[in-house]
Amino acid sequence: MIDETPILDNHLHLDPDHHRGIDAVRDFARVGGTHLLVVNKPSWHLGVEAETGEDFRAVFERTIEVVEDASSELEGQAWPVLGIHPGLISRLVDDRGFSPDDARDLMQAGIDVAAEYVDAGEALALKSGRPHYEVDDAVWAASNAVMRRAFERASDLECAVQLHAEGSEEMTEVTAWAEDVGLPAHKVVKHYAGGRLEGPIPSVICDKDELETAAERGEPFLMETDYIDDPDRPGAVLGPKTVPRRVAWLLENGHEDAVRNAHIETPALVYGIDTEATLERP
Ligand SMILES: [Zn+2]
Repeated sequence: MIDETPILDNHLHLDPDHHRGIDAVRDFARVGGTHLLVVNKPSWHLGVEAETGEDFRAVFERTIEVVEDASSELEGQAWPVLGIHPGLISRLVDDRGFSPDDARDLMQAGIDVAAEYVDAGEALALKSGRPHYEVDDAVWAASNAVMRRAFERASDLECAVQLHAEGSEEMTEVTAWAEDVGLPAHKVVKHYAGGRLEGPIPSVICDKDELETAAERGEPFLMETDYIDDPDRPGAVLGPKTVPRRVAWLLENGHEDAVRNAHIETPALVYGIDTEATLERP
């Protein structure tokens, strides 16, 4: 059965500079993984200390390159998801002397550049959000303004937005902001989510309890590892084989509908991608 279904990891990072990225893709493919959404790493992880929106281009282009290599390793396909990591605001304000408003302007400019790649068909979706940790009111307001810019651009482009945000099971205020600018709630995905979430579509981290919750809930959801992510969340990293292994586990436990939901139906709903048609089995 696992040989018959597409398997999508909705959020992982590949590091093109250290040449380990493609090994991770091979590991994923070897255990049955077929499709990937590859999110650009936070800009400062790649040594980019952006001064203007244009400075993010190097980060986006490196991600697009590694995604092309990843696709050639897969029976399915990989797509880039591009945007600005919301944790950047703290680096700008706390370490680089930006005012919250100046940080907002720079990050919005970065979102605009990411949107150009979606418009050109070189990326599938945008990434934005707000800090998952406590910040002061000015930084919170600036972060929300960046996220709302991402919703505006995504609405124009009819693409999805992946959010990095605080742990929560209730984010209907955020999807209401998306809907205010014409972006349907089902085009907003919360990355690193638990199994139950009101508002955005949850991209559920591969914890068995959370997956069981999502499977039994029966609402649209996605699955992810967040492979190689934030240094401020040590120990949160799951290996690239985890999504295929959890799919096998779901199937063993009678959750065929949930597997179809997370790997075929929800990817079509959120991103407009067809994970079956893009699958070429030998
Ligand atoms: Zn991530």
